[in-house]
Amino acid sequence: MAQTPSHTLEQTLSIIKPDAVEQNQIGNIIEYFERDGLNVVAAKMIHLSTEQAKSFYAVHAEKPFYEDLVKFMTSGPALIMVLEGENAITRNREIMGATDPSKADAGTIRCDFATSIERNAVHGSDSAEAAKKEILFFFKPNEIFRRT
Ligand code: ADP
Ligand code: MG
Repeated sequence: MAQTPSHTLEQTLSIIKPDAVEQNQIGNIIEYFERDGLNVVAAKMIHLSTEQAKSFYAVHAEKPFYEDLVKFMTSGPALIMVLEGENAITRNREIMGATDPSKADAGTIRCDFATSIERNAVHGSDSAEAAKKEILFFFKPNEIFRRT
């Protein structure tokens, strides 16, 4: 049997943020990924330290919402995952929906679970470079499931 071409198989970092973990929506959110063919290949629950959150979101350090974002992301545990699938980086962003839930398409995670532009349920890497960097931020290579 022919093998599926592997050149578009990607991995991306996904975080179920503290708001959605607190609301017991982990299972419901993972369902959105799995039903669209994005598979969980690594996962850990972490209550981020201030240092970790600041470093992870360093690209936003100059933004007015940075301090609040760090407070929110350290307010409780988050579920950190690596998702794998064809075009996983772009597709994850589509499944997530727009940053501002009032602008997110119907049926997206943020439309269904976010409560504000800050408390928007999920994070997803926005480029191949970001995915690589963000996965390495949280996972060692031997913590990621390899099917082959
Ligand atoms: P995304 O998560 O969609 O990639 P950004 O990278 O622009 O969005 O922002 C990172 C996170 O910072 C957002 O997911 C959200 O939690 C928060 N955020 C973004 N913009 C705002 C804003 N205008 N006010 C408050 N929080 C924001
Ligand atoms: Mg972003």
